Amino acid sequence: MTQSSIFSRILTGDIPGEIVHQTDRVFVLNDIAPQAPVHLLVIPKTDQYANVVELAAGDPGLLAEMVATARELVPGDFRLIFNTGEGAGQTVFHVHAHVLAGELPEGSLGER
Ligand code: 5GP
Repeated sequence: MTQSSIFSRILTGDIPGEIVHQTDRVFVLNDIAPQAPVHLLVIPKTDQYANVVELAAGDPGLLAEMVATARELVPGDFRLIFNTGEGAGQTVFHVHAHVLAGELPEGSLGER
């Protein structure tokens, strides 16, 4: 990418954004425009993959880590969405998983 994505700029602190969880390779934000009581974005720290198709081909282990992170953060059932391409509603071309779920128990991540 020629220019850092908005998510990379949040990761580096160039623009404000609360990182609610991170590992060596992924970080998690609350979506700024939530579509469900819990709406997390699980994002690789690298911005070299624009979408989930590129990520699956280039680093399937990193994709698995994103899924495991969603599983770790949301105790119950959830939806995992990867908008892929402009026509599907993708607006940020730095691969990210939307994790959508109902309310989490008090004191858990979604309540912060
Ligand atoms: P996409 O449309 O690419 O699948 O998802 C991009 C998501 O990023 C959208 O749901 C949008 O609300 C979210 N988003 C865009 N800018 C920001 C931001 O500055 N902070 C946070 N936390 N989320 C953002």
